[in-house]
Amino acid sequence: NIQTNEVYYSSRWKGILGYSDDEIENNLSAFERLVDPEDGKKVFTLVEDYFSGKVDQFNIELKMRHKNGTYRNILSRAFAEMDADGQFIRIVGTHMDITEQKRAEEELKKAREEADAANRAKSEFLANMSHEIRTPMNAILGFTEILDEKIHDEQYRSYLSMIGVSGRLLMTLINEILDFSKIEAGKMKLEYKPVNPVFVFKEIAGMFSQEIEEKGLEFTVKTDLNMPEYLLFDEVRFRQIILNLLGNAVKFTESGTIKIEAETQICDKAFDTVDFIFSVEDTGIGIADEQKENIFNAFEQQTGQDHATYGGTGLGLAITRRLVEMMGGVITASGKKSRGSIFTVKFQNIQKVNDVNILEEKNDMPINSDDSGGSVIIFDKAAILIADDIKVNRMLLHEFLTDYDFEIIEAENGRQAVDLAIDHHPDLILMDMKMPVMCGQKATQILKIGEDTKDIPIVAVTAPPMQGTKEKISVLCDGYLRKPVRKSELIAKLRLFLKHSIKNPNSSYPVYSDSGRSETGWSETGSEIENERQFETFTFDPKSRKQLSRLIDILTTSLMSRWEEINDMLIMDDIRQFCADLDHAAREYSFRPIINFCDKLYINIESYNVVEVQKLLAEFPGIVEKLEKNMLMHTINQEA
Ligand code: ADP
Repeated sequence: NIQTNEVYYSSRWKGILGYSDDEIENNLSAFERLVDPEDGKKVFTLVEDYFSGKVDQFNIELKMRHKNGTYRNILSRAFAEMDADGQFIRIVGTHMDITEQKRAEEELKKAREEADAANRAKSEFLANMSHEIRTPMNAILGFTEILDEKIHDEQYRSYLSMIGVSGRLLMTLINEILDFSKIEAGKMKLEYKPVNPVFVFKEIAGMFSQEIEEKGLEFTVKTDLNMPEYLLFDEVRFRQIILNLLGNAVKFTESGTIKIEAETQICDKAFDTVDFIFSVEDTGIGIADEQKENIFNAFEQQTGQDHATYGGTGLGLAITRRLVEMMGGVITASGKKSRGSIFTVKFQNIQKVNDVNILEEKNDMPINSDDSGGSVIIFDKAAILIADDIKVNRMLLHEFLTDYDFEIIEAENGRQAVDLAIDHHPDLILMDMKMPVMCGQKATQILKIGEDTKDIPIVAVTAPPMQGTKEKISVLCDGYLRKPVRKSELIAKLRLFLKHSIKNPNSSYPVYSDSGRSETGWSETGSEIENERQFETFTFDPKSRKQLSRLIDILTTSLMSRWEEINDMLIMDDIRQFCADLDHAAREYSFRPIINFCDKLYINIESYNVVEVQKLLAEFPGIVEKLEKNMLMHTINQEA
C-alpha cells in the first residue's frame, strides 16, 4: 500500500524462495534483504519511473536469494491501482520463477555458439587442408607436365598420363570438398560471364565419351530453335552442375539413351531475359519414389545401392542443388525405379547476351602449350626471383623456366626475398604468400614501398586465397597464379610483364613486342580479325581518318593519364568509370575494337574478376599505340 507502506507477500511468493509462510515478515526490508543488491536498485528506479509515467509497464527480471543460498531468476510483473480521484493506492504484482527457462536459454545459446565455432573450425580446417594438399599436388602435376615433354617411350608415357589424370581427379575431389564447405559457410561468390550452354553440354559429354561408347549408349542434345547462343551465367558452376548430372546419368545407365533437352522461354522482353530450362534424362536404374528428395542430401545414396558397383560420396547432388539454388534456380528429380531418371533444372530471369563479338576470347589455356598457336616466345634476358619455402615448388617453377634466358634467384622466405630483391633488383618476383619468418604479403608490402623495389612486378603464387585475402592480394600484387601452376599459365603471366618477342614459324622475322604491355593479345579468333580489319580500313577513308585522329587525341591525353592512375590503384569503381568514358568515346567515333575491349572489360568488372581486369587494363596502351602507328603509317603512305 503506497499510502500506508504496508507490504503483503503471498505464501506462494515466499514458497518460490523456499520459505514457509511465517518465515518472512511482511515489510519492505524483507524484499531488500532477499533481492540481489544491484537488481534491488533497479526495482526502485523502475517504481519511480512507473509512477512518474516515464514507463508504462512494470516488468523486470530479478535475481533473488533462495533459502538454500542459491539465487533464483524471478520475472516480476506489476501494476498500480488508483482510486476514483486518480491517486495511486497500491502496487499489485506477481513473481514467477524462470530459473529453469533461463538455464535452458543459456544452454541453447552456448550450444549454438559452440556449433558455430565448430563449423567455423571445420571450414577453416578444410580450407587449410586443401591448401596443404595443393602444395604436394603442385609438385606432382607440375613435374608430370615436365616429364611429359621429356619422355618418349610409349609405355612410360601412358604411366605418366595416368599420374596426370589421377592427380587432376584428386584436385577435383579436393575442390569438391572445399566447395561444399564454402557453400555451407555461405562464402561462395558467383562470377557471371557469357556462356554458351550447348557448347558446355557437348564439351562435358565429351569428357564421358569413352564411357558412353564402351557402354554403347546413345547420347543426344536437343535444344529449341529460339534458344539464344549465349546466356549470362556463372560458367564454372554451370559446368559443375552439368558435370554432376551427366556423370550420374552415365554411371547409373547400362544401356539405352542419355538425352539432354534445353529450352528458353521469354521472360522479360524489355530486359532481354529468359527462363532457361534443361533436363538430363537417362534409361538407367531409375529412382524409387520415396528417394527423390533424400538423394539431394549430403552423403546420401539410394538405399540398398551396391557401393562396390557405383562407389561415390553422395556429395554430388547436394552440391548441385545448392549451386542451382545459389543461382536462383530449382532442381527436381523424377522417373521410376528401373525405368530411368530425369533431372530437371529451371532458372528464371537469365540475361541473354546478344553481342557475340565480345565472346570469342578463349578462356582456358591449352595444356602443354605456350598459348601462342605454335609460335615461339623469346623472352629478353631477365632475372626472376622465386620465393617459396618449399623446395620442390621452387624447383618446379625453375624447371618451367629453363627453356628461357632467365637468371633465377631463389628465396626461402619473405625476409630473404626482400633482401635478395634489394641486392639483385630482379625483373619480376614470383612470390608464394604463405611462408615462414615473413609471409609473402608482408614482403610484398615492404617491396612496394621501397624506392628501389616498388616497380618490380610481383606475381603472387598461391593456393586459392581465402575470402578477403584475395582482394588484398589483387590490390597489393601485380598478378596472381593459382597453384597448381601450369607452365602455359606461368608463361602467359610473364608475357604481361617481361620484354619478349614472338617468333612465328610461318615467318622468318620475329615480331618484336616492346614489352608485355604493348602486346595486345589480338589473336586470330573471328572478332579479332574484325578488329584488325577496322584498324586497317579506318585509315583509308578521309572522314573516318579525321575522326580517328580526334579519338587518338582523347585516348593519348586525358584517358591515358587516367589509365595510369587506375592501373596503379586498381579501384574497381574508378575502373568502371574509366570503362564507361572510354566506351563513350569509342562509340562516338564508332570504333569497334575499343567498344569490344570495353565490353570485355565491363563484364569482368561486373563479375569482379580482378585478375582479368588487370590483364585487360594492361592491354590498353598497346591498343592506343597500335592505333597511332596505323595512323602514322597511313599518313606516310599518303605523303609518299
Ligand atoms: P554419388 O553419385 O557420389 O553417390 P550423388 O549425390 O551424385 O552422389 O548422387 C546421390 C545418389 O542419387 C546416387 O548414389 C544414386 O543413388 C542417386 N542418383 C543420382 N543420379 C542418378 C541417376 N541418374 N539414376 C539413378 N540414381 C541416381
